[in-house]
Amino acid sequence: MTGSEPCDACGDPIEEALARTVQLNVDRSEVDSQRLCPSCFADWIERYRTEMQPQARGDDEIRGDSDIIVD
Ligand SMILES: [Zn+2]
Repeated sequence: MTGSEPCDACGDPIEEALARTVQLNVDRSEVDSQRLCPSCFADWIERYRTEMQPQARGDDEIRGDSDIIVD
């Protein structure tokens, strides 16, 4: 057992030392938690920032406190 787990995005085994666990908190409720390899982590951040761009849509649920917590 190496303790490695597959990346949630691409499925490749990732070393513990390189693992990035991301949590997206909206209104203090955890809505997403993923273990990602560095490459997918970068992609995830990019997608998060794109999706969280203010748009003229009725996404009132997304408003409020939001943070990315990276361990
Ligand atoms: Zn990956």
